[in-house]
Amino acid sequence: MRIFVPLERSETETRVALTPEAVAQLRKLDERIAIAVEAGAGRHIDVADAAYGEAGAEVVSDRAAELGRADLVVRVNPCPEEEIDALGSGTAHISFLDPFSRTDLVRRLAGAGIRAFSVEMIPRTTLAQKMDALSSQANLAGYRAVILGQQHLGKVFPMFMTAAGTIQPARVFVIGVGVAGLQAIATAKRLGARVEAFDTRPVVREQVQSLGARFIDIDLGETGQTEGGYARELTAEQLARQQAEQARVCAYSDVVITTAQVFGRPAPRLITEAVLRDMKPGSVVVDMAAATGGNVEGSVAGEVITTPGGVKVVGGDNLPASVPRDASMVYANNLLGLIELLWDAEAGQIRADTDDEIIAGCLITDAGELVNTAVAEHCKKEESA
Ligand code: NAD
Repeated sequence: MRIFVPLERSETETRVALTPEAVAQLRKLDERIAIAVEAGAGRHIDVADAAYGEAGAEVVSDRAAELGRADLVVRVNPCPEEEIDALGSGTAHISFLDPFSRTDLVRRLAGAGIRAFSVEMIPRTTLAQKMDALSSQANLAGYRAVILGQQHLGKVFPMFMTAAGTIQPARVFVIGVGVAGLQAIATAKRLGARVEAFDTRPVVREQVQSLGARFIDIDLGETGQTEGGYARELTAEQLARQQAEQARVCAYSDVVITTAQVFGRPAPRLITEAVLRDMKPGSVVVDMAAATGGNVEGSVAGEVITTPGGVKVVGGDNLPASVPRDASMVYANNLLGLIELLWDAEAGQIRADTDDEIIAGCLITDAGELVNTAVAEHCKKEESA
């Protein structure tokens, strides 16, 4: 079986799907696995082509030919539409795919007979933990959001009592306490800030408290979570109540970090212009959902906007790519876990055995069909709308 790791094409992408360590691990899994890596693939993580060679990969430069030869293509980002035709029918493809937004791409992958796996759709279960790329990347993004928040704040995070005066600790408010939010809380605490947090899922209260932060109580009535542990979308009244209560906390916070997402839907709007107006000049809002709909009114992914009242709104954009060495290492380990699960030693190929719940969860297209029920239903709804 031949695996191909193409260079990521997006200008803002610095991560790579496999590291030399992961290449060596795959070679150890089965020596019938051959790995080709496009020249330059590791340039952003300070890994030279020779290191891939030493790990047992072949470094190649004819990208189109390799796409055609590969049995499995692994990437960070979705397959560019213009490269689908270069893949042979039956080729497997593993990457982030954003299947609920990229429905046209999903349909085209199905049409071309690609066996496409979406790492976002790997079930968030204990069994699948080592393959959970959403978590591995969100964890790093949560850390980076805090660092960004501090960089744009004209103030340190910890309390300093010095002969020249006492510096009060920064007040940090984290909204949305999933994987990224928990890491943001932990990082801000480590840096010495006073941290508060809120999430619509009441189950996270204890996790917030165990990190030494304060959970903000907002009574929204029935909220709950899906079977998979994701937040449910709030009603308009619930959202309005949340916005009003949060505004009070935002007004005295130095840094607000928003991480709220509702799986398969645009991110909820949590901080309106009115809330920004009541915040202190010099305070900073980091919107980690800027690229997926935006939790903060007016935020732009990858940009820092200063409001007329002097609040800096930082639009997070692919934050894991700002720490590409670590992000690539953990992503490669996630892929390694998934490929080990998919590996059929008897056939010397990967299998798409949908009796396995992890495989059934993340296999999106196979043998010309859109096989994932949730994504297929979403596409049908879209077509009939
Ligand atoms: P996510 O990125 O989908 O969302 C981030 C957070 O935003 C979530 O905590 C969500 O509740 C919150 N949110 C949504 N709407 C909100 C609103 N209006 N106001 C405030 N917060 C709002 O979340 P995630 O990090 O991908 O985690 C999703 C779930 O998966 C969690 O329950 C997490 O514990 C679970 N999980 C489980 C495992 C495992 O068991 N192996 C691994 C990872 C994650």
